[in-house]
Amino acid sequence: MEIIKKTLSRIGDDSEVQKQTAVSGGDINQAFYVQTQSQEYFMKTNAGVPSHFFQVEAEGLQAIQQTGTIRVPEVYHYDQPEDGESAALLMEWIHSGSMNDHASLGSQLAHMHSHTNASYGYGTPTFVGQLDQPNTWAPSWVDYYRTCRLGAQLDIGISKNRLTSKRRSRLEALMNKLDQYLPAHPKASLLHGDLWAGNYMMDEQGRPVLIDPSILYGDHAFELAFTEVFGGFPSDFYEHYQEVLPLPVHYEETKALYQLFYLLAHLNMFGESYGPPVDRILKHYTG
Ligand code: ADP
Repeated sequence: MEIIKKTLSRIGDDSEVQKQTAVSGGDINQAFYVQTQSQEYFMKTNAGVPSHFFQVEAEGLQAIQQTGTIRVPEVYHYDQPEDGESAALLMEWIHSGSMNDHASLGSQLAHMHSHTNASYGYGTPTFVGQLDQPNTWAPSWVDYYRTCRLGAQLDIGISKNRLTSKRRSRLEALMNKLDQYLPAHPKASLLHGDLWAGNYMMDEQGRPVLIDPSILYGDHAFELAFTEVFGGFPSDFYEHYQEVLPLPVHYEETKALYQLFYLLAHLNMFGESYGPPVDRILKHYTG
């Protein structure tokens, strides 16, 4: 494929491509294993993504890498495409192994969450899946969560016609009284932002590796709540997480509110199968 050769030549690898195979598992991009005479790579390609699509993923990986707490693939190159151009993100190929070390995933993530910032949110727009994720630096977590998270999904839900009038009015009512439930000033932890089971790998030595982040700084309970949306990670993960960083006292009470963001995003991306859990949470908080 033309884009593969072009991307490799950007990083100065003009050696012969010996193997290229499609990798399945992603929701959004085409992904490839590429082996040249000199190296192995993981490459994602997409045509028609906004120019900052791969840039924010690369920057997220680099921000996590800089904490020195948990492994991420090394980023070699990303494109900032003009409208409609094919673009690529090129990174280190991670060899998956059969050892599952969820204890290390828990403790290393907790160490990553111990890296904090003065403000909440993030300085540039990112993506949640394919949806735009507007961001800002906010002095209050609850304001960031109201505007940039629930508010953004409300707007997308309206434009995609995913919100019944009841759903919409309950969501608006909940947003208005959000400060009754969420802490205004929790520690602003560095969060992966999209941590479900498909977004971590275990390498050949059993080390956890985070992939595909959508980073922000915020309440670490937000990240943990998402890990529980699809049945939860193995118990080792939570036990070792808490040895490093205890769960906040508000965890159980805020969990559903934090899961609401991800469920709304899924409703907006994938449709009505995510409607019932969204409605259950909204009804619980607004009656
Ligand atoms: P998408 O952005 O399309 O959701 P992902 O980043 O989730 O794509 O990657 C798709 C799949 O490719 C993952 O589920 C994982 O199995 C594999 N993968 C991702 N990054 C790497 C990597 N650096 N090395 C090897 N395999 C990877």
